[in-house]
Amino acid sequence: MAEERRNARDERDTGEDSQDSRTARQQAAPDDVARAWDELVATARRTVADGLVVGTSGNVSVRVGDTVLVTPTGVPYDRLTPDDATGVDLTGRQVLGRLRPTSELPMHLAIHTTTDARAVVHTHAVHATAVSTLVRELPLIHYMSGALGGPVRVAPYATYGTPELAENMLRALTGRTACLLQNHGTITYGNTLSEAYDRTAQLEWMSRVWLTASSVPGLSPTLLTPDQVAEVGERLRGYGQPG
Ligand code: 13P
Ligand code: ZN
Repeated sequence: MAEERRNARDERDTGEDSQDSRTARQQAAPDDVARAWDELVATARRTVADGLVVGTSGNVSVRVGDTVLVTPTGVPYDRLTPDDATGVDLTGRQVLGRLRPTSELPMHLAIHTTTDARAVVHTHAVHATAVSTLVRELPLIHYMSGALGGPVRVAPYATYGTPELAENMLRALTGRTACLLQNHGTITYGNTLSEAYDRTAQLEWMSRVWLTASSVPGLSPTLLTPDQVAEVGERLRGYGQPG
């Protein structure tokens, strides 16, 4: 106890972190940061390669300890190198790198501080963005809605990068791992970057199915009921290979 107090005092006197305070803040190991940054850059590049964004649109984040690695604002993803690693703490203070973090920090931090997310992907995917201008919720066109927690809501429009947009998004995400942002795009989260990315791809695919089916003149698509989708949500917990 006395030792602890002395450490805390020494820390104040010298301005240096003690081992205790570093552990308390879950400092990220340099190797873990480097690995996570590589994966983040690969994911951001994939959003461009797969046509989910154009240019420097969209952004990606991944959490390592209490550091949130984020794509820097306005930098083409193919130019990012290992030296460009950019990170903030959970209050948004920059703790890593010199490039300015994404303008959508409020959305990313709102998810990282209020959910169990480890990774967040934001895109301007074409079909999903089109759907966000037509309805308040993506109609239950396919059972994969169950993989996102249920009917995907549309967060009301607010200017990009604002706390208001982050608030609207959090409300739309209640009980979901994905939502649409009205006249803007998609946002999803997961335990890993690949899980968050896959949810984005599924959301874009479902949006495309709904737009395709609902644009046949004289016909309108059958929809699933919330109960049918909830049943799938349960069943998907056991989907795939065991272990
Ligand atoms: P950033 O380049 O600041 O990440 O912004 C892109 C974007 O999609 C804003 O909504
Ligand atoms: Zn955007």
